Amino acid sequence: MKDFEKIYGKIKKMAPEHHFEFKNDPFWILITTILSQRTKDKTTDEAARALYNKYKDSYNLENADPDNIKKIIKNVGFSNVKSKRLIEVSKIINHDYSGEVPNNHDDLIKIPGVGSKTANIVLTQGYNIPAIAVDTHVFRISNRIGLVKTKDPDETEEALKKIIPLKYQIEFNPVFVEFGKSICKPVSPRCDICQLTECCDYYINNKKIKK
Ligand code: SF4
Repeated sequence: MKDFEKIYGKIKKMAPEHHFEFKNDPFWILITTILSQRTKDKTTDEAARALYNKYKDSYNLENADPDNIKKIIKNVGFSNVKSKRLIEVSKIINHDYSGEVPNNHDDLIKIPGVGSKTANIVLTQGYNIPAIAVDTHVFRISNRIGLVKTKDPDETEEALKKIIPLKYQIEFNPVFVEFGKSICKPVSPRCDICQLTECCDYYINNKKIKK
């Protein structure tokens, strides 16, 4: 079994620092994460900040005109669907949860458009509750290195839960995301500058093929 702590320590050193808009603000973390689906980080952050500046909270967002929201988030992927979704989500938070985003996975995933990854981002970045948020970077990197051997995000979440100590769970997702964007990229990973070549299955197997 791979030594997670050793590997994580190296990844953390290599990864640029991640800036989380709205850290410790569960509602805006939720809104930002919904906006982020199929959208670049910079575009997401700009749209979320513009929405925040105009609406500030779930009550104002619930009563917003969807066309105005759509205009503000026009550069985000699926802006039409998301503008309506943001109003729907705000309504649920206001009416079913008295304006407070739930702080548990079971209730979070009942909200439309909220899957396990989004729920776990809200828990970790909004509430500082340990959880395993598996996005495309976490899935790819964990499997490449050989920390897990899994077929989908749900399986990855379960497998990583067993090997990532609670004390790393809040920050590991942003660290993996930055490592995935800068070094262990989806296409052409930068193995030439990576410090994990000795223990990474992907590198070891590809090297063997080349020999
Ligand atoms: S050695 Fe290559 S594939 Fe392995 S973690 Fe580093 S960049 Fe990714």
